[in-house]
Amino acid sequence: MLGLITLLLLLVIILIVILVYFYIHRKLSRFSSTFFGTSDFFEGLAKQKQEFESEPKTPFGMESLLLPELMSDFPFMNVEEIKRLAEENILLYFESISTRSIQNFGNISGKLKEEIMEGIHKAEKNNTSISDIDIHKTVLNSYTKYNGICTIVFQTTLGYQFGFRDSLSHIEDRINTEFIYVYDDTKTSAQDLISLKCPNCGAPIKGLKHKICPYCEAGLIDLAPRTLKFNNLVRK
Ligand SMILES: [Zn+2]
Repeated sequence: MLGLITLLLLLVIILIVILVYFYIHRKLSRFSSTFFGTSDFFEGLAKQKQEFESEPKTPFGMESLLLPELMSDFPFMNVEEIKRLAEENILLYFESISTRSIQNFGNISGKLKEEIMEGIHKAEKNNTSISDIDIHKTVLNSYTKYNGICTIVFQTTLGYQFGFRDSLSHIEDRINTEFIYVYDDTKTSAQDLISLKCPNCGAPIKGLKHKICPYCEAGLIDLAPRTLKFNNLVRK
């Protein structure tokens, strides 16, 4: 008798658990189709994440704070021109990924070149495609000097079509591009770096503030775009 009551109680509890499970499941599905346009809750969350990524992003810039120092160190630097260089390098990066072959970046670090090759390899494996790139804005993000090397970082906001295997989606993104410049190569032992040389006589120029070559007196205007090394590219 006691055994029968226990069995019945157990059956009732199991029934309640099953009913509660279906009730919650139905609630979640309904919630999901109302808010995410799909009946699968987790797929809905993934979709929501995607929609978040399609919101345009705000660039994080410190321009008003950093520009005076940068301009005092590089009196002839055309910062707008370096921003275009940053954007051009982002486009070359995407072109490398979509054409599966590394584009001609000019002055690029060996480390970054290797990373891009690896990116191309992954894109090939996952059948990744990138198209319709629309660059919104580029701002100066950081400027630091350490051990004879200047590091200038730009942040660019952009949108593009991203395909992964078979699904295509619009992504709004933020990408940092980092440029380095050796202003005193007596302070660094890195072999990979390029220091400023006079374009006329090839003499090494020490320090940032020379406006003319101390050897041949040629003007040193507008050297920055050719001497800045493209060192890194990071999604933010
Ligand atoms: Zn010279």
